[in-house]
Amino acid sequence: MRTRPLLCAALAMFGCGDVEYGVVVDGERLPVIDMHLHPGEWSHTPPDTQEFLAGRFPFPLQLTPARLAGQVLSVDGLKSELDGAGIGTGVLFAVYAPRTVGISANEDVIADVKQAPDRFYGLASLRVERWNDDEASELQRLRDALGEPGMVGVKLAHAHQHFRMDDPRYFSIYALAGELGKPVYLHTGTSPFPGTAQAGPYTDPAYLEPAIAAHPQTIFILGHLGYDFKQQQLGAFTTCLELAARYPNVFLEPSALGSRSSDPSGANLKTVMRRIREAGLVDRTIYGSDGPQSPGFVDEYLGRTVAAMRAADYSRAEMRMVLAGNFVRVFAVQEPAQ
Ligand SMILES: [Zn+2]
Repeated sequence: MRTRPLLCAALAMFGCGDVEYGVVVDGERLPVIDMHLHPGEWSHTPPDTQEFLAGRFPFPLQLTPARLAGQVLSVDGLKSELDGAGIGTGVLFAVYAPRTVGISANEDVIADVKQAPDRFYGLASLRVERWNDDEASELQRLRDALGEPGMVGVKLAHAHQHFRMDDPRYFSIYALAGELGKPVYLHTGTSPFPGTAQAGPYTDPAYLEPAIAAHPQTIFILGHLGYDFKQQQLGAFTTCLELAARYPNVFLEPSALGSRSSDPSGANLKTVMRRIREAGLVDRTIYGSDGPQSPGFVDEYLGRTVAAMRAADYSRAEMRMVLAGNFVRVFAVQEPAQ
């Protein structure tokens, strides 16, 4: 069912308005929200990271990375990646990590979401490098961004932004998110990006526990489930399961860890999805890919995740929760169109 949305989009001008999104499992179409996408400007990415990313594009695309990135990372590019995967809704991340993955500004994400409000939500972020001086103004900027249409949550990456998960000076971010009812998405686990802070306090979700315990009104979504991207091992996955079991405000997001480059055999993603189900945490798991990365990645990651859920005997109702239902509930948004 991959060509259907594209075909219908092309036919829309001739009166075929019924675009059908979703992944078909055993004859039933399940809506999908991809909660983890990176829009952006190639020119805002640091040179080391450009080189690293270009090396992951398939030949011969790696020869023209700026052109390729410009196509894939634009709103139209992201829409066509979603269309190619049959995904109706995507969530775009703002990022302020000038020393590692680069900058994707709140203003740009807000503008992207406004361009296609029926297809995208956004997560806002903030700068933390000069926190002792500009905490108040950064929090105000975050508050303002979260007041814009479709801006539904907060994105943080301690490892890329170089601040400790257990540093109480930053707890004001979690307090603000809780006050506004906006979930916080956090990168957990090591990262392959040049310049990442790989030590435990930046990557091990165990260090988040004081913040989680102190902010029961704030939703914490543990991105990548503590995966060790350097060693391609499960890393702190068990810690994530334990935190979700102990705290009702903790959610799980299995993006990127199961990609072809990070989990070549697919065995790790299968283990992750199986153990989530065994732990009774299916209703706490929210699908994301960490795309677009390269053309076709968004589609491929959905396929790998559905395969992992099938291998672990997820019912269609359970798949529905992971692929869209839990996002709708946690972020208090509309059920996506199918
Ligand atoms: Zn990401």
